Amino acid sequence: MKLYKIKKSKIDNKGLYARLDIKKGKKIIEYKGKIITHKKSEEDSKYDNSKAIYLFNLNKRYDLDGDFKYNTARLINHSCDPNCEVFGTGLKVWVYSIKNIKNGDELSYDYGFSFDKDYKDYPCKCGSKKCCGFIIREGSRWRIKKKKI
Ligand SMILES: [Zn+2]
Repeated sequence: MKLYKIKKSKIDNKGLYARLDIKKGKKIIEYKGKIITHKKSEEDSKYDNSKAIYLFNLNKRYDLDGDFKYNTARLINHSCDPNCEVFGTGLKVWVYSIKNIKNGDELSYDYGFSFDKDYKDYPCKCGSKKCCGFIIREGSRWRIKKKKI
């Protein structure tokens, strides 16, 4: 049984929502895509954008490109206070819950964008108390807070 459903999101366009209560540490959905070599992701202009949202590093040799319609997990939005995390086991990538999630909650994870000069192009509308206003990975958000002061 599927643990999620697709719904219109308050954060951005569409999102995935829990269909039932999900305990912490559960595999929710596979992040599907095409396995490509680092060489390809470096050379192909499709991956030029430094914010390659759908590109996951699998290991020293391969990346996973999840930028395909069949990859439902790509609809999951970024949040500054996420309830999921994405990680790879072998050559598969899964979205896991990192908190207990209630039926009806939107699923989210940290997109892990690094902080650079174009961060303003990626505003965040996650609405969490921890929101720093932009899509930036947790470890780099202090840079924004510093700027506000
Ligand atoms: Zn946010």
